[in-house]
Amino acid sequence: MSDNSQPSMTDRLLMGAAGLAAKTWPIAARIFPEGPDIDSNQSLWAAQTPDYQAGQPLKGTITCDLAIIGGGFTGTSTAYHFSRRYPDKRVVLLEAKSLANGASGRNGGMMLNWVTGVTDHSPEMTKRIYDTTSAGIKMILEIIQRHNLKVSHRTDGTLTFYTDRKRAEDAHKECEEHNAIGIPSTFIDTATLAKQLNAQGVYGAVLDPDSGQINGAQLVRSLRPVLVEQGVEIYENTPVLKIREGSTIMLTTPEGEVNAKAIVLGTNGYTTRLGYFRDALFPLHSHVFATAPLTAEQREEIGWRAYAGYSDDYDRISYSTLTNEGNIVFGGGSNQSYAYLFNNRTAYPGTPQSAGASFRKMEGTMYEYLPNSKRIPIMHRWTGTLGITLKRNNLMGVRGDNRNVFYAIGYCGHGVTLANVAGAVLTDMYSGDDQQWRGLPFYHATYAPIPPEPFRWFGYQTFTKLTGKSPRV
Ligand SMILES: Cc1cc2nc3c(=O)[nH]c(=O)nc-3n(C[C@H](O)[C@H](O)[C@H](O)COP(=O)(O)OP(=O)(O)OC[C@H]3O[C@@H](n4cnc5c(N)ncnc54)[C@H](O)[C@@H]3O)c2cc1C
Repeated sequence: MSDNSQPSMTDRLLMGAAGLAAKTWPIAARIFPEGPDIDSNQSLWAAQTPDYQAGQPLKGTITCDLAIIGGGFTGTSTAYHFSRRYPDKRVVLLEAKSLANGASGRNGGMMLNWVTGVTDHSPEMTKRIYDTTSAGIKMILEIIQRHNLKVSHRTDGTLTFYTDRKRAEDAHKECEEHNAIGIPSTFIDTATLAKQLNAQGVYGAVLDPDSGQINGAQLVRSLRPVLVEQGVEIYENTPVLKIREGSTIMLTTPEGEVNAKAIVLGTNGYTTRLGYFRDALFPLHSHVFATAPLTAEQREEIGWRAYAGYSDDYDRISYSTLTNEGNIVFGGGSNQSYAYLFNNRTAYPGTPQSAGASFRKMEGTMYEYLPNSKRIPIMHRWTGTLGITLKRNNLMGVRGDNRNVFYAIGYCGHGVTLANVAGAVLTDMYSGDDQQWRGLPFYHATYAPIPPEPFRWFGYQTFTKLTGKSPRV
C-alpha cells in the first residue's frame, strides 16, 4: 500500500521535466540499445528446489503455433491454460536460464488480492477486482491440488499494517465499506494484533483472510512435467535475442530459430531488453532476505503466532512472510532496498556482500517491527527484478500489425496472483472469448510514458533522493 498524499511541488516539477525528456526517445533508443542481461536466482525459494536441473537449449529451427518467451508465472500459466484449451496446437516455451529464474522465483512470496494502480474506486469495480484476484488464488490452489504439486504454501491470510493513527482509522472505515459489498476483510486493533503478530509501531491492521504465501520457484518448477505432459516443448538456457514480427514471427536464439504464428511476452521486468515497452516499464532491483528457520520458542518470543505475512503502508513498502518451514522472508522498507541501474540493466552486478549496507538497513526495519527477531541469523540474501510502470498498473493485451504479440507485464511487485491469472487472460484473448476480462484495469491498459536515458536514470536518482519515494504518477 502506498500513502495517498497529493503530489508535492517537487513531484510535479520532476514529472514535468520527465514529460519534456520523453521527447528525446527517437534518438536515445539508438544511442542506448539494450540486450539480454540475466543473472542467476540466489533465493531461498530456489534453494528449496535442490534437485531442479535446467533443461536443454533449443538447437535448430522449429515452427509452432505459440511461442512463449519467459518461464516465470506468466509464461508457465499461459503454457498451462493454452495447452489445455488447444491440445492440438504446438506450444513452445523459451526461457533464458531456468524456469523461475526471474521474479517468480525471487519474490517475497505474498499471494495477494487486488490490482495495483487502479483509479476506479467504485464499489462495482472494487468488488470485481477482489473477485478476480480471489478467484486467481483459488485457481493456483486448484492447480496445485489437481496435479499434486509439491509446493509449500499457506493461505491463512495476510495483513496490511497501518503505521499512522489516521491511516488506521481510514483503513478501518474502508474495511467496513468492503464488508458491505461482500469483501471479507477484517480490521484488527492494536491489542488484538499484539496477541497474534506482535509488531511494534502499528496502529491497526487489515486482514485479508483469502490471501497467503507461496514458494513460487516450487510452483513453476513443479509445473514443468505437467506442461510437458500437456505437449508443451520447453527449452531452457535459451535466451531470445531478436524478434522479427510478421504474420509468422521469427525468434532468434543463440543456437536456433523459432517461426511462430503468435508469441507471448512473459518477460516482465526484462521486456525492454527485447525492444518492447521501453517507454512503459523500468526494471527495479529489489533486495530480499530470509532468516534461518525459527524454532517454536523463537516464534513465540518474536510473537508471530498467526498469519502468513504482512506489508506496511509506506511508499517504500516493506513486506514479510513466514514460510511453513519457519523462515521469515523480508523485503523492501527503504530507498536502499531498491535500485534502478542505468539503461534498464536487469542483472544485478553486486553480491549480497557488496549490497551489505542495503541489507543492513532492511534488517533494521524488520527489527523495528519485530525486535526479538534480532537474534535470528540471516541465511539467504538475494535480489530480484520487478517490472514497474509509472502508474503502477500492469498491462495485459495483444499488439502488432498482425495482432499476434500477446503480453502480460508490469505487475509492480504484485504479480504472484496476477501473473498466474495472466495465462487464463491471454488464452481467452487469443480465442476471442475474453468478455470476462474486459474493463478490468489491466485489460489493454494504457500507461504513462517514462523518458529514455540518460534522463531516466538521472530522474530516478533525483526523485528518490529528494522525496524518499519511488517515481509514480
Ligand atoms: C524481490 C521481489 C519481491 C516480490 N514480492 C512479491 C510479493 O510478495 N507478492 C507479489 O504478488 N509479487 C511480488 N513480486 C512480483 C512478482 O514476483 C512478479 O510480478 C511476477 O513473478 C512476475 O512474473 P513473470 O512471469 O511475469 O516474470 P518473471 O518471473 O520475471 O519471469 C520472466 C522470465 O523471463 C525470462 N527472460 C527474460 N528475458 C528473456 C529472453 N530474452 N528470452 C527468454 N527468456 C527471458 C527470465 O529469465 C525470467 O525467468 C516481487 C518481485 C520481486 C523481484
